[in-house]
Amino acid sequence: MRLILLGPPGAGKGTQAQHLVAKYGLVQLSTGDMLRAAVKAGTPIGRQVEEIMARGALCPDEVVVAIVEQRIEQPDARKGFILDGFPRTVGQAEALDRMLAKHGIALDAVIELRVDEAALIRRIENRVAEMKARGEPLRADDSAEVLHRRLVAYREQTAPLIAYYRQHGTLRSVDGMAKIDEVAAAIETAVSAAGTTSEPAVVAKPVTAKPAPPRRIGRSGLGKKSHISGKHHKPKIKVKPKARAAKKPSPKKRKKPKR
Ligand code: AMP
Repeated sequence: MRLILLGPPGAGKGTQAQHLVAKYGLVQLSTGDMLRAAVKAGTPIGRQVEEIMARGALCPDEVVVAIVEQRIEQPDARKGFILDGFPRTVGQAEALDRMLAKHGIALDAVIELRVDEAALIRRIENRVAEMKARGEPLRADDSAEVLHRRLVAYREQTAPLIAYYRQHGTLRSVDGMAKIDEVAAAIETAVSAAGTTSEPAVVAKPVTAKPAPPRRIGRSGLGKKSHISGKHHKPKIKVKPKARAAKKPSPKKRKKPKR
């Protein structure tokens, strides 16, 4: 199963990703965590993004795409993964499409956590106040001002992905303002509705649930052997020839051969 959790900072993506990890045995791929680890380790990428992250802006697409691609090629990601915080721009979403097609795999669902921004700001302010009261260290981007900038970045650069994935037919929206366990239950329902299982995703599955035009089938790598699972995806072979057969003109309409 391969999922994306989409929502503004503070919407609860990380919490819900952990729930999905426990429930389905997927790995959580959080670009924010990966970038913070790079900053902490002082790697060249970490040095490049440290200041960008501290001011709440988005890191360059090519940097983030490269770390995600490396990560999904790791053996533990073969069973499936949850992308948390990626993609964040249409450019990243397009790069992800190419990356998945290259590996002969596809997304099962994109879960949008719908939240009320004003409530979100209050939620984060409370969390920061509680952490300060407990004397816990705060992240460099944990301040009302930086949060505001991150929300602007979400609205301008990430929110267009809702339309992008709606068009792709993979978007499922849940109320992110409900209690944590209610949100988790709603996500499980959305995942089931997307026709997914805890098995590695079969690329033909979304096609079975909602017929897609042949061009899309080709781009998502249908009919290929998965480089990640190494398995052949059984339903795919039947889908393509059928779609082609349906398009053949009837014998009556065929042009007479020229004499
Ligand atoms: P997060 O923990 O997901 O809220 O991410 C923290 C910060 O890491 C963001 O404010 C960005 O600066 C950076 N970041 C994380 N994921 C991405 C991404 N997909 N594209 C660009 N920047 C990102």
